[in-house]
Amino acid sequence: MLKDYIRKELREFKPYHAAFRPQKIKLDANESPFSLSENVKSKLIQWIEKEENLNLYPDTDSTELREALASFWKVNVENVICGVGSDQLIDCMMKVFLEPGDRVVIPDPSFSMYRSTTILNHGVPIEVKLNEDYTYPVSEIIKTCNKYNSKILILCTPNNPTGNLLPTRQIEEIAQNVKCPILIDEAYGEFSNETMIPLIEKYPHMVVFRTFSKAYGLAGLRVGYGIGDREIIDAIYLTKPPYNLNVLSQKIATWVLQDEKVNRERIDYLKTEREYLIKELRKIPNIKVFDSDANFILIETQNSELANQLEKKEIFVRSFGVCEGTLLLRITVGTKEQNEKLLKVLKSII
Ligand code: PMP
Repeated sequence: MLKDYIRKELREFKPYHAAFRPQKIKLDANESPFSLSENVKSKLIQWIEKEENLNLYPDTDSTELREALASFWKVNVENVICGVGSDQLIDCMMKVFLEPGDRVVIPDPSFSMYRSTTILNHGVPIEVKLNEDYTYPVSEIIKTCNKYNSKILILCTPNNPTGNLLPTRQIEEIAQNVKCPILIDEAYGEFSNETMIPLIEKYPHMVVFRTFSKAYGLAGLRVGYGIGDREIIDAIYLTKPPYNLNVLSQKIATWVLQDEKVNRERIDYLKTEREYLIKELRKIPNIKVFDSDANFILIETQNSELANQLEKKEIFVRSFGVCEGTLLLRITVGTKEQNEKLLKVLKSII
C-alpha cells in the first residue's frame, strides 16, 4: 500500500487547506484589507508596458529588494534574505539546523506552522505553554531550551493568535541564556512599536523574520524576509531554493516598501480601528477580549456556535475550537465598514 511508504509522522498529518473567499468579509487570516496603492499601481503599469524579461528567471538573490530592505533597516545587504513568504524562510531555517529528532522549542499557543514545519523537517516540536494571561514564561523557555538541547527556539512577537508583545528586555534575557539559533517572528511587527532588528549585531544567533503579507498588503504575492548577522543569514542561504521569489513579487515589494507615506497611513488606520474594535467588543456581554499589538484581536466566548453564526452572515473569523466549554476566536481588524458590520452582527447574535 502506498500509505506504508509515507513517512510515519505524516500518516496522520493534515495538509493545509483553506477556503478561498475574497468577496466575503474575510477576517480570518490577518491579511490587510488594502491592496496596491495608486502609486504602486502606476509603477506596475509602466513596468508592464516596457518589460520584456519575464522569459528569464528572476534574480535569485532578490538584490534590488534586499538593497531596499537594507537601506530601510540601516543594515548591510548581506544581513538580508528574501523568501516566498516568511513561511519559506522558517522552512529553510529548519532545514539548516535540524538533524532528525532534534528539538525545536516553540510557544503554545502560537502560529501553527512552527509545529508542522518542524515535523516536516524531521524535528520534534517542544511546546512551552504561555502563562494564563498569554505572557511568555521567560525562565521556563530558557530551562526548556537547555534541558532539550534545542536546535532552534522560536519566539513570535506580537504573538499569533494571542496578539501580545514579548518585550525586548525579555527577549534579551532569553538570548543571553540560550545558545541555539533563535528565530524572532515579527510578522506583525509593523503594528507594534518594537523590533529586535537593531540588536542583530549584539545577538548574532538571532534572526528576525518579517513579511509583506500583513501590514504591506501583499499576501497574494508571498514575500517575506529575514534580517540577522551575516553568519546566520549565510547559513539560511544554504537551503534557500534557487529563483525562489518571482520577478513580480520582487518588483512590487520593492515599490511598496518605498511607498512610505501610504504604509504609515494604512498602519495608523488599522491601529486606530483595532483600538476602536477592542473598546466596542468589550461592551458586548459574555465576550472576553484580549489586548493586541497586532492587526487581529483574540476573543473568548462560551457561545460555541459563534463562528458558525458569523459565517451565516458571511463574516469569516478564525476559530481555534472549543476547549473546556470556551471558544477561542481570532478576528482580523478590517476596514471601518467591515468592523462596523461585524459589531452589528455580533450584537444581534449575543
Ligand atoms: N508568521 C506568523 C506569526 C504568521 O501569522 C504568518 C502568516 N499567517 C506567517 C509567519 C507567514 O507569513 P507569510 O505570508 O510571510 O508566509
